[in-house]
Amino acid sequence: MTPPIVSIVIPVYNEEDGLQALFDRLYPALDALGKTYEVIFINDGSRDKSPALLADQYHKRPDVTRVILFNGNFGQHRAILAGFEHARGEQVVTLDADLQNPPEDIKTLLDEMDKGHDYVGSIRRQRNDSWWRHVASRAMNNLREKLTKIKMTDQGCMLRAYSRRIIDTINQCAELHTFIPALAYSFSQHPTEVIVGHEERHAGESKYSIYSLIRLNFDLMTGFSIVPLQAFSMLGMLVSLGSGALVILLILRRIFVGPEVGGLFTLFAIAFFLIGIALFGIGLLGEYIGRIYHEVRQRPRYLISAILQRSEQNDQP
Ligand code: UDP
Ligand code: MG
Repeated sequence: MTPPIVSIVIPVYNEEDGLQALFDRLYPALDALGKTYEVIFINDGSRDKSPALLADQYHKRPDVTRVILFNGNFGQHRAILAGFEHARGEQVVTLDADLQNPPEDIKTLLDEMDKGHDYVGSIRRQRNDSWWRHVASRAMNNLREKLTKIKMTDQGCMLRAYSRRIIDTINQCAELHTFIPALAYSFSQHPTEVIVGHEERHAGESKYSIYSLIRLNFDLMTGFSIVPLQAFSMLGMLVSLGSGALVILLILRRIFVGPEVGGLFTLFAIAFFLIGIALFGIGLLGEYIGRIYHEVRQRPRYLISAILQRSEQNDQP
């Protein structure tokens, strides 16, 4: 059996309300491409009816559908990584299950791939997210671009296309905590971005809270750059130079002017400021040590309980 040209990888976590609408739009859009394709759904340990809906869909279109069922909730990125390991297409597209990106835009991405790009990112046309997400994401983008040299106008959009070479390279990476678009970007030679549509979540609710967005951005910075650590040692150097100068100044003052009594609270302020910086530094170190800790344990990234696919689709050689 020859491998398909396009593989679509879709992580699914508690999406029962939106899945049918996704199937109804996705498959016609893919049939219209005129390319052979496969759709790989990864059920990331959903606790609702999503696995049953995916199984139904597999039975409806077993020729082009594959379903990987996880043994628990391992997170969106690991679900996508599992999809990558099973994808056989020359061009691999990731898509969210919530219909926030129209499946019809897959064609736009693939057209760019056909022009010779090996990575096609996407920018949401008009963002229907809340305002604080706009502000936060712009600030994070600037910071990330400076720290990691990864140019991504819109990091929140998972509708992206990758070439086989990039997928193979990603499959060689054993990292546990990663951000796939950033990882792929760092391997790409000829990346580009296109503008895609963006809609309100079709059904269900976002799986991400403010907390997990902050976590994601920490992972992004610490996972792709050690500049925060280096910047911190530079800051430490400046602070110690400053406090050294302050000590000398106070000694000289004591010799020539006499001991001072006032300024106690100024000293407090300086002390608290330094303590704050030190605590932040410890936290930052913790981020990196936590990453190292996770990686050295070398636990499996995910556990698969079952795969629904036609027997001839078995990708074991
Ligand atoms: N998702 C997943 N595992 C998780 C959380 C999310 O597989 O632990 C999937 C989810 O089903 C969706 C995609 O990842 O297909 C993006 O999730 P969501 O739409 O909640 O994120 P947002 O669009 O709000 O950033
Ligand atoms: Mg979404």
